[in-house]
Amino acid sequence: MGTRGREIIGMNVDELLKLLNAAYASEWLAYYQYWLGAKLIKGPMKDAVAAELNLHATEELAHAQLLATRILQVGGTPVLDPKGWFEASPCKYDSPADPYVGTLLAQNIAGEQCAITTYKQLMDVTKDKDMVTYNLALTILEQEVEHEEDLQSLQEDLELLVKRVAR
Ligand code: FE
Ligand code: FE
Ligand code: MG
Repeated sequence: MGTRGREIIGMNVDELLKLLNAAYASEWLAYYQYWLGAKLIKGPMKDAVAAELNLHATEELAHAQLLATRILQVGGTPVLDPKGWFEASPCKYDSPADPYVGTLLAQNIAGEQCAITTYKQLMDVTKDKDMVTYNLALTILEQEVEHEEDLQSLQEDLELLVKRVAR
């Protein structure tokens, strides 16, 4: 990394790298969870939900890309082996074993809520210490907040539909 760019980081770089790699690992798990869920999904509104899941998969992959770039800039190495993703990630991987649309929505909402917590923490830790990572975390956080809302809105529509059919 550029030497001056590293000098201005006012916190322990190993601690920073640990947090960046944790978020990086979570993004790959989120990517796969969305990507596979979109293929397996079954039930009402599945096409609308699959489209959103696919879009989110693409966006999670873009987050992994942003984090990898920052990890390399700071002089670290992104988690080298997918096996390491589980250990590094603060958010769990929820396998889409039950393809019902409502189950997939609930799993991915939980994932987004974990992501929101993760980026909020990354912002708290880097505030006034590493402005570049702080700004990166804000950019990603904005999208995770949007993701949560998109999924909760689909969940609400699904509940209304199911209620109507049951009447
Ligand atoms: Fe993400
Ligand atoms: Fe997300
Ligand atoms: Mg969306």
